[in-house]
Amino acid sequence: MTTFETQHWPNLIGGKALDGSGSAAERISPGHAQIAARYVSASKADVDAAVAAARREFDTGSWPRMSGAERAAVLRRVASRIEQEVDALALIETVESGKPISQARDEVRGAAGIWHYAAGLAQQTYGDAHNALGEGFLAMVVKEPVGVVGVITPWNFPLLIVSQKLPFALAAGCTTVIKPSDMTPGTTTRLVQILHEEGLPPGAANLVHGGGDVGQWLAEHPGTDMTTFTGSTRVGKSVARAAADSLKKVSLELGGKNPQVVFADADLDAALEKVVFGAYFNQGECCNAGSRLLVHQDVAEEFTQRVVQRTHDVVVGDPLDEATKVGALISEHHLGVVTDYVALGEREGATIATGGQRLDAPVGRYFQPTVLTGVPKAARVAREEIFGPVLSVVTFSDLAEAVEITNATGYGLSAGVWSRDIGTAMSYAQATRAGTVWVNCYMEGFPEVCFGGYGASGIGRELGRTACDEFSEQKSIVVRTGAPLPKWVN
Ligand code: NDP
Repeated sequence: MTTFETQHWPNLIGGKALDGSGSAAERISPGHAQIAARYVSASKADVDAAVAAARREFDTGSWPRMSGAERAAVLRRVASRIEQEVDALALIETVESGKPISQARDEVRGAAGIWHYAAGLAQQTYGDAHNALGEGFLAMVVKEPVGVVGVITPWNFPLLIVSQKLPFALAAGCTTVIKPSDMTPGTTTRLVQILHEEGLPPGAANLVHGGGDVGQWLAEHPGTDMTTFTGSTRVGKSVARAAADSLKKVSLELGGKNPQVVFADADLDAALEKVVFGAYFNQGECCNAGSRLLVHQDVAEEFTQRVVQRTHDVVVGDPLDEATKVGALISEHHLGVVTDYVALGEREGATIATGGQRLDAPVGRYFQPTVLTGVPKAARVAREEIFGPVLSVVTFSDLAEAVEITNATGYGLSAGVWSRDIGTAMSYAQATRAGTVWVNCYMEGFPEVCFGGYGASGIGRELGRTACDEFSEQKSIVVRTGAPLPKWVN
């Protein structure tokens, strides 16, 4: 049996590593049923202390007052440290989440790339100047850090997702309190440790462990100015309600039911690879999962057969095995949700063309990559996020129907379109209500390109050149340079 060391992860408050005063918790590896991590959850008082430490640093500390160049230097060093620790971080990510080790390494490298990019943005804080306001006036609009930011992240890409938020909040000059998922505490803790080792003032990044209650205390906390959240649409709504009650800024990256749309004139070999990748990458536990295949009726039968065949070839198993493409599901509860969805699909008239079962493994919890064919477009399995290795196949007759089906879920995170006709591909891209549309490719992410969702997939955008704006306020300063002031009262 595979072995690895059990890690003990502290809370990090004002630079001090301490156990929380909440309850003790263990994380059991989904792939190996061994204890991967231990920690003690934060209590409400610990969350108060973490917010107070972030507030002190914001109000009187050095981080918000440093030059962008100084902040950039810290972020750059952190990026390099992540690169140096790829193997160690990937191991933590894999044993806590169940994802394949090769994919975990790519995730860690991707996170490092984002820290490098954010370091560049730290030196690009600038606003506007207005000198055509009439004689005697000059105005400027400056960007300032929004303040103390609560950062709440999910379990599916723990290091990548915190890296879509934290470096940009820090680059903008904010201070932070971070709450990772209780199922994946490790890489986020190691990241904050690295930040402190590389010279971040201790109060600028604080970390509290625990479950949804800890997340809720942070989201509701009157001492924060903003919450940035990635997770389910259900919890995202509750975070937005908490933000409304305490009137703070909020950004939400939520779920998706993303289609890959294959037209009859597409490069079907290329589409095949990416349809299979998009459906099963990270066990389908991916906000960007291409969990719907919309295939044109003229090629539907042949292409779907090829997808089913290729699905058979996907290697499922031990996440620490280099050959594995689909690892273990995050929790027993979640495996039950995925199983129930497949049964629902059958009741709704779909056929299980392959998979559909829990894998018979001596240890760990695995679900077979599954293709549901003949899915009615109104079925719940065609519209709801399953978040497992399940692909729902729906056929369409023309561009208008492909767009109609795409936009009918309420979600709008991402979509892929496959066609050799640029007119078809671009018409689809323009008509689709989604934050990202991939044309003849799928799930290609770059720090330079912004990311976020329409509708139930979220509010706000991460990454890209405006990433720090999410964590900024704009202030207008209007200067009278010499205009006579007329008397208001004679
Ligand atoms: P959840 O919404 O359950 O949890 C997300 C985070 O919120 C976790 O840290 C969780 O803590 C915490 N939390 C739970 N309840 C509350 C609450 N009431 N108030 C504040 N925080 C709370 O999502 P999952 O972790 O299950 O992640 C899966 C979901 O995330 C999927 O729907 C997926 O689509 C979405 N996602 C979206 C992405 C995007 O960028 N659009 C990217 C990745 C995932 P704990 O886990 O400890 O309970």
